[in-house]
Amino acid sequence: MGNRFEGRVAVVTGAAQGIGAAVAARLAAEGAAVAVADLSAERGAETVEAITKNGGRAVAFGADVSQTPEVEALVAAVVAEFGRIDILVNNAGITRDNLLFKMTDEDWDAVINVNLRSAFLMSRECQKHFTKQKYGKIVSLSSRSALGNRGQANYAASKAGIMGLTATLAIELGPYGVNVNAVAPGYIATAMTDATARRVGLDPEELKKLAADQTPVRRVGEPEDIAATVAFLAADESSFISGQTIQVNGGANR
Ligand code: NAP
Repeated sequence: MGNRFEGRVAVVTGAAQGIGAAVAARLAAEGAAVAVADLSAERGAETVEAITKNGGRAVAFGADVSQTPEVEALVAAVVAEFGRIDILVNNAGITRDNLLFKMTDEDWDAVINVNLRSAFLMSRECQKHFTKQKYGKIVSLSSRSALGNRGQANYAASKAGIMGLTATLAIELGPYGVNVNAVAPGYIATAMTDATARRVGLDPEELKKLAADQTPVRRVGEPEDIAATVAFLAADESSFISGQTIQVNGGANR
């Protein structure tokens, strides 16, 4: 593994498990000091332990990133711990799937707040540091579902929102040395997709096989596939890429 992030500090939200944990591990393996942010510091302990065992540097922080005061406190705590902040990965996300006629106000608000509002709040807080130091990288998690997915009106809207937010922040922050991009994964095997399988009455392994059969490369994605793309977008070699949402889905066109 290289050392593209030597001397850099990254904050990864929702990093206790799944894609966020893999992103945190990848950035740390390449030299970043990583703030592992999740709903509680206890939830992030496993990710921190894995990184530390590998010789990396990581600290767990607890914050609900859909709440303004918690976001302000989180970013302040990360800067107090590591002295700076260079890379923000907006990864925290939830699903509350339902067909429109059964979708409640709470289902809608929870998903929009955790998936989209959090990215706005975290970006607004981090840009204070990024613009001052004339350096920053924001990478947010969108989804293939942004193109439309039955039962996911709330989730699809939040992930399409990430694309618009990304395109706009790239324009506003580009002059300050800040790159803003998003990654839109297809089916990545995590607790989130396991929960989706159960919702539609399938065993997670069955859904994985169905998804793999429908994917041109004939496999589902792993968190490491997304971590590699996030790392590329967070690295200086991609500094002429901004405002983009990169599809990482094994060739599935929609
Ligand atoms: P995951 O396994 O469910 O992990 C998400 C993490 O975010 C969990 O640790 C969760 O904590 C945390 N989280 C939830 N609400 C939070 C909040 N308000 N503040 C801070 N942390 C919070 O999901 P994943 O599959 O790794 O997905 C990661 C991201 O990729 C999400 O944005 C997701 O929408 C996106 N994505 C995933 C897929 C896929 O196929 N897996 C595809 C496209 C996009 P708790 O477990 O305690 O709730």
